[in-house]
Amino acid sequence: MIPRTGIGMDAHRLENGRAMWCAGLHFPDEPAGLEGHSDGDVAAHAACDALLSAAGLGDLGSNFGTADPEWAGASGVTFLAEVARRVRAAGYEIGSVSVQVVGNRPRLGARRQEAEQVLSAALGAPVSVAATTTDGMGFTGRGEGVAAIATALVVRSSE
Ligand code: MG
Repeated sequence: MIPRTGIGMDAHRLENGRAMWCAGLHFPDEPAGLEGHSDGDVAAHAACDALLSAAGLGDLGSNFGTADPEWAGASGVTFLAEVARRVRAAGYEIGSVSVQVVGNRPRLGARRQEAEQVLSAALGAPVSVAATTTDGMGFTGRGEGVAAIATALVVRSSE
């Protein structure tokens, strides 16, 4: 059994007045949310790309075209559950996913375990969530957007 790793990253702009969804959670007190065709959940999207990469299945864009009405407005958690289904259908067991959110907001620290529970339930495998900032530098440091980076580990379950 040879494990395969994958990596993914995502970034979305912050838009005033939009609902903030990040790492599978709604942050009702945030003044700005993440722009995008879907809920803009950078953590879930980075996790999806890491999983697809590990399984050699391409990326979010090649799996869920933005022109496809079936996926318009889909939540990050919905994408994560569907990616998990596709990765398993391709013959892989999912070991784990690790996600780090990069940005000033939302403040994930107090809700980190809740985020891990929601994402792990969607994936059917452990997801760990962490967060960091960039010391005021770059688009995340200036508060223009939020990014996330993720890794995934999968193991071939059938030939
Ligand atoms: Mg995205």
